[in-house]
Amino acid sequence: MISYNEAQDIIQSEVNKLNLKTEQIDLLNSVNRVLAEDVFSDINLPPFNNSAMDGFAIKFNGDIKNWKIAGEIPAGKFNDYDLDEHSTVSIMTGSKLPSGCDTVIPLEDVEQQNDFVYLKKDARFAKGINTRKLGEDLLKGKLAILKDTLLKPHHIAVAASCGRSTLKVYKRLRIGVLATGDELVDIHETPTGDKIRCSNLYSIIAAIRNINMHSVNFGIAKDDKQLIHDRLKWALESELDILITTGGVSFGKFDYVKEVYESLGVETKFWQVKIKPGKPLLFGTYSFNEGKTMIFGLPGNPVSSLVNFFLFVEQNILNLFKLKINNKFSATLQDDLKKEDSKRHFMRGVYSYSDDGKYYVKKVGNQSSGNLAEMGKSNCLIIVEEDRMNPRIGETAECIMI
Ligand code: AMP
Ligand code: MG
Repeated sequence: MISYNEAQDIIQSEVNKLNLKTEQIDLLNSVNRVLAEDVFSDINLPPFNNSAMDGFAIKFNGDIKNWKIAGEIPAGKFNDYDLDEHSTVSIMTGSKLPSGCDTVIPLEDVEQQNDFVYLKKDARFAKGINTRKLGEDLLKGKLAILKDTLLKPHHIAVAASCGRSTLKVYKRLRIGVLATGDELVDIHETPTGDKIRCSNLYSIIAAIRNINMHSVNFGIAKDDKQLIHDRLKWALESELDILITTGGVSFGKFDYVKEVYESLGVETKFWQVKIKPGKPLLFGTYSFNEGKTMIFGLPGNPVSSLVNFFLFVEQNILNLFKLKINNKFSATLQDDLKKEDSKRHFMRGVYSYSDDGKYYVKKVGNQSSGNLAEMGKSNCLIIVEEDRMNPRIGETAECIMI
């Protein structure tokens, strides 16, 4: 059995070998995708000198404080005026400044009488105020958005103003999911006798979608060696980046997953990690002509499989895409925690952020790896490291938001 850190090192070095492919997609489909090119501006931003306020455009002369109105320039309906220092035009926010004008007096800073405007006494008056200069945001040809940026609405806005209707982004990883277990029925059914609803398929697919990757649903396979073989063969032939199975990977009599994986050519890199929950985790790789599939055999217990996903699958995908997600923090414990072995524990907890600027965390009542309902009340994992025993109220622990 290997340690948490050893497991992470092995997974990370394999996952980093995945070849990120790229695709050109519509601008509006690229939100929450990762940019695979530098984006440059095709024009100056703004493209012309313009007004930052509704007001009056003038040629600044510090001694002149009233002006004759010569006309108006609505935004998008430019009409040039050759003004001297004694005249002005009414101008709207975003309107192009007439030739020679360098300053805008806001509407609220003038009194208007007939064709004249008079600067109010306390008004701010200086050359260049309330104007936006050609190219002051970004000059033509300059870098607008950096490669590897996770695209959010503000990046889409920048790309739009640079005239980009499509962007080159990294393709989402294709991640297959298969649940195994004789006891499983799908969620439309009400389980009877010794059956339970299959939640893992849904939790893992939801977790894949949550990080905007592409899931492929291989359904539920019974604990029958041939059935599992056929389903895994199909999944392995699907040229996935990652294949995730849940269940059937412990020591039980009907736990066939590891054996079948290996019979199909999966190279096991490790099996079992010194963690709780999620100890039976299996990780391997499968090579095909064009590349490799990362194989994660997660245990069936619903809390274990999801915690394993967060720790080992999600973290390494985010690293692969160079995404720095700030989901780790230190919190003060509001409960004593029971921990008496040398595994690394990931307890489910509820954190809160207090007025004193600190995080506090409580554990959820039941830490059983089968208790999904309790996990549903949590919003973080509390990490208790290998050599740490029974942490007490008031001590600090590292946590991961989930
Ligand atoms: P296993 O790892 O196959 O031994 O399963 C461990 C526990 O997880 C058993 O109690 C199973 O009933 C439960 N389990 C396995 N697969 C699922 C699933 N897809 N959804 C919910 N519970 C599951
Ligand atoms: Mg099972």
